[in-house]
Amino acid sequence: MNKPRAYSVKAYSATTAKSPLAAAVISRREPTATDVQLEILYCGVCHSDLHFARNEWHGTVYPAVPGHEIIGRVKAVGSAVTKFKAGDVVGVGCLVDSCRTCPECRAGLEQFCPDWVGTYGATDKHLGGGTLGGYSQEIVVTEEFVLRIPANLNPAATAPLLCAGITTYSPLRRWKVGPGQKVGIVGLGGLGHMGVKFARAFGAHVVLFTTSPGKAADAQRLGAHEVVVSKDAAQMAAHAGSFDFILDTVSAAHDLNAYLNLLRRDGNLVLVGAPENPLPVAPFSVIMRRRSFSGSIIGGLPETQEMLDFCGTHNITSDIELIRMDQINEAYERMLKSDVKYRFVIEMASLK
Ligand code: NAP
Ligand code: ZN
Ligand code: ZN
Repeated sequence: MNKPRAYSVKAYSATTAKSPLAAAVISRREPTATDVQLEILYCGVCHSDLHFARNEWHGTVYPAVPGHEIIGRVKAVGSAVTKFKAGDVVGVGCLVDSCRTCPECRAGLEQFCPDWVGTYGATDKHLGGGTLGGYSQEIVVTEEFVLRIPANLNPAATAPLLCAGITTYSPLRRWKVGPGQKVGIVGLGGLGHMGVKFARAFGAHVVLFTTSPGKAADAQRLGAHEVVVSKDAAQMAAHAGSFDFILDTVSAAHDLNAYLNLLRRDGNLVLVGAPENPLPVAPFSVIMRRRSFSGSIIGGLPETQEMLDFCGTHNITSDIELIRMDQINEAYERMLKSDVKYRFVIEMASLK
């Protein structure tokens, strides 16, 4: 394949695991026939961005430009693009390409394609080097990986749906969470607050587990029927053996067994949080009551569009705090202190 021509845009990148993010200039390809070129308006700040920038999952190639909750305005489209036109407000999530021919891609489960291309940290087959994410002025993405955004939703508050939204929507749908079920959401951060909103919208009885007692009132406002402070052993014991389903969104080391023990017979704990180090599971936590322990990662393109359309119909967006690009390092420190209400979103005009 001929290398497409490239142009320069402003971005924020990390150059080592220890360095703060700082202004940089990166290359984007000139749109090819099937590409959509976006001016990025907003980019959400996912805890995965921090894990990636600081090499907590090992294998980060620098310079690293995070960001995979992208809302942009279409600037130009290639000659073969049919679904989008200049001026449209669109979304790009965690994936920018995949092989499109394997069984996973054919099933619309591109997140399981062996050759999936992440929005950042994957190999850029057009320009070489690593793919560079949404902490930047523009991005160029093949049409099939661009999503339609319902016109009634606030674009800034919609950005987090592209990762936090789909990552919680997908397992709640996969395991058919709904009326008559008692469902736990662990952690009230970016993912957790979307998990609470979706579980409530799907009709479940929702219990939010938090290490931050000060978040209880917000959790109830966001849709939780009950709030449990997980550091309080008596509050935890009161729920032993009673949950059908628990979604764990915690970003750091914590005791999974404390949550497995809250599941009833055949209950399922689904991990979406991705802490740096292994989390021990005690055998009796799962062999008692025939419990399951599962995981889930983002969602495919069709389900991400379904989730966005669901949010349009039900008027669901993220609760956000808008920041400037130059506040990103401070935002990371606050995220590490669980001080996010409940997603930071970068106003990308601040990068000009
Ligand atoms: P976040 O906004 O920082 O929220 C994480 C929450 O976890 C915190 O707000 C806090 O909630 C709780 N928490 C933090 N440290 C804790 C500790 N030591 N013990 C117990 N609870 C703690 O992060 P996020 O963006 O929602 O992401 C959460 C995790 O999911 C990250 O590891 C991220 O990489 C991962 N992720 C996975 C996928 C996937 O596809 N599987 C997608 C996106 C993100 P409380 O204050 O309520 O306790
Ligand atoms: Zn993410
Ligand atoms: Zn594939």
